[in-house]
Amino acid sequence: MPIRVLPPQEAGKIAAGEVVERPASVVKELVENALDAGATSISVEVREGGLSLIRVVDDGAGIPPSELPLAFQRHATSKIGSLDDLQRLSTLGFRGEALPSIAAVAEVTLVSRTAGDSSGAYVVLRRGQIVEEGTRGAPPGTAVAVRRLFAEVPARLKFLKSPRTELAHIHNMLGQLAMSRPGVRFRLLVDGRRGFESPGSGRLIDVLVAWHGGQTAARLLEVGGETGGLWGYVSPPELARATRADISLFVNGRWVQARSLAYAIEEAYQGLLPPGRHPLAALHLRVPPADLDVNIHPAKAEVRFRRERDIFALVQKGVRETLTGHLTVPSVVSGAAMPHLPTDGGDASRGFAAPAAPGLFPAAAMPAPGPAAVAQTAPATGARLPVMRVLGQMDATFIVAEGPDGIYLVDQHRAHERVLYERMAGGARRVDGDGEGHEGGLETQLLLEPLVLALSPRQTAFLPAAMATLAALGFDLEPFGEGTYLLRAAPALLPQDQLVAAVSTLVDELLESEVAGDLRERARRGLACRGAIKAGQALSPAEMRELLVQLESTASPLLCPHGDPIIVHLSKAQLERQFGRG
Ligand code: ADP
Ligand code: MG
Repeated sequence: MPIRVLPPQEAGKIAAGEVVERPASVVKELVENALDAGATSISVEVREGGLSLIRVVDDGAGIPPSELPLAFQRHATSKIGSLDDLQRLSTLGFRGEALPSIAAVAEVTLVSRTAGDSSGAYVVLRRGQIVEEGTRGAPPGTAVAVRRLFAEVPARLKFLKSPRTELAHIHNMLGQLAMSRPGVRFRLLVDGRRGFESPGSGRLIDVLVAWHGGQTAARLLEVGGETGGLWGYVSPPELARATRADISLFVNGRWVQARSLAYAIEEAYQGLLPPGRHPLAALHLRVPPADLDVNIHPAKAEVRFRRERDIFALVQKGVRETLTGHLTVPSVVSGAAMPHLPTDGGDASRGFAAPAAPGLFPAAAMPAPGPAAVAQTAPATGARLPVMRVLGQMDATFIVAEGPDGIYLVDQHRAHERVLYERMAGGARRVDGDGEGHEGGLETQLLLEPLVLALSPRQTAFLPAAMATLAALGFDLEPFGEGTYLLRAAPALLPQDQLVAAVSTLVDELLESEVAGDLRERARRGLACRGAIKAGQALSPAEMRELLVQLESTASPLLCPHGDPIIVHLSKAQLERQFGRG
C-alpha cells in the first residue's frame, strides 16, 4: 500500500484509542472535566456497563454557547495556553483530547449552561461531527451523554470484557475520583439503580466509609494532617488484603498510579504483614506543581516526580510512624488461644486489644533502653513494651513475665526473629579481630576455611543479580569455576553448619521476587527466621532478660517479621474474673 494520510475520521478513532480504552476511561475524562469546572455535585449514570449509555451531569461553570463546537476540536482547551503553563497546572485536564476522542468512538450529546446565560445550548455529534445544535432549557452546569460507545469500533469492542467487568472498572474509577475530592458529592446510578454515593462533606474518612463500609473504615489509621504534604488513611496490619487494589494515591487532588509510591507504602509495613498480604491505603500528597510531570501518559494516570526520593521517604516515614504508634499488645480473650493474624482479611479486631488507652503503658513506666548491645535502628516511637520481670520459661518456648497489669507471654523465637530482623536493617558490618563497637548493623563472620557452594544452573544464572543483596546482608561470595562459588564470609547470626543451606535457600527465594527492595526484605525475613533461637530451646533467666531488653529496643516489638504477634497479655482483671473475684 502506498503511503497515504488517513482520513480525519479514521485518524480520530486511532488517536482516541490512547485516551478512551474502555467505558471507565470515558467516565474518568468526563468527571475530570466536571471537577475542573468546579462542580460540587456530580452524578454518573451508566447502562450496560457503559456501552449503551454513560451520562455525567455536573453543576460546574458550564461552557458558553459560542464555545461548544470548539470543545470538540482536538487540542482545544481552556486550561492552558502554552506548555509552560503545565508548571503551574491546577486542573486535571490540559490536553484538549478527551471530548474529541470520545466523540470519535461514540455518539455524544452535550448540554451546557453557564451561570450568566439564561438558557442552555447543546450539540449532538456522530462520528466526531456535529450533526445537530441549538438552545435548550437547562440548569447551570454541564451534562454529557455518551451512547453506543465503540459501536463502530469492532476491534475495540472485541477486547472489552463483560458489562459486569466494565461496570466494576467504572465503579472503581468513581471510587478513586470520589476519594480524590472529598468535598465533591458523587452519585452513581447503574441501570436505574443507586450505586456508590459519597456525601461531599470534605472529609476523606466519609468517602472511605462509603467506599469500604463503616466497619472497615472505622479501623483505618490516620496518617499526617491536611496542613502537611501527606495525609490520609492506612489499614492496621491486621486488616490486610490479598491484592494491591486498595492502595490509592492522590497527588494534588489527582488520582495517580505510581508504583514507586505504592511500594513506599508497602515498605512501611515491612515486617508487619505476612508475605503476599497488602495494606489498604488512601493517601493524599501535595507537591509544588513544578515538581510534578503529568504529561507522560495520554490518560494522565501516571506521573513523574522531580524529587522522587524525597517523596518516597516522606510517604514511607509518614505511614511507618502511624503504624508504630498504633501497635499494642494483644490480650488473651476469655482464656482462648490468641488467634493468628487472619490471612483472609476477615474480622480480626477481637483478637487485638483496642488501641492502647493512654494509661495502659504510661510513659513513665517505659524502660530506659538497656545497656546491652542492641541495634541503633530502634526509633523511640516503637517502644511500646511494658516493663516486664521474667518469671520463667514455659515449654522451652514462651517466656513468662510479670508486668504492670498481669502476665505477659513472649514467644522466644518470634522475639529473637524481630531483634535479628531489625539488626539487619543496618546492613552488614565486618568484625575484624578487635570486635569493636556494636552500633547497629549486622555482624559478619569471616570463615577460616571458605566453603564451596555448588549451585544449580538456574541459581548460577541469577546469582550475579542477587550479589548486591547478599553482600548487604553479609555474605561474601566469589565465583569459583563452573557453577561453584566460594563463601568467604557470612552473617554471624547463622550457625556454621547451616551456611550452605542458607545461601541456597536464599538464592531460591530471591529468584522468585523481582523488585530489588523485595529481595532484601525476603532475605532479611528468611535470615532472621533461620538465625533466631528456636522453640524448644531452654534459656537461662539472664538470656531471657537479655532477649526482652533487646526486644524492647526494636521499632516494632509486638509483631514478628511475618506479622504474627510476639506477646500475649493476660490482664489482672481477666485473672480476677477467672477466679470469680471480679
Ligand atoms: P481538557 O480537559 O484537556 O481541556 P477536554 O476535551 O476534556 O480537554 O475538554 C475541552 C474543553 O471543554 C475544556 O478545556 C473545557 O473548557 C470544556 N469542558 C469540557 N467539559 C466541561 C464541563 N463539564 N464543564 C465545563 N467545561 C467543560
Ligand atoms: Mg478533559
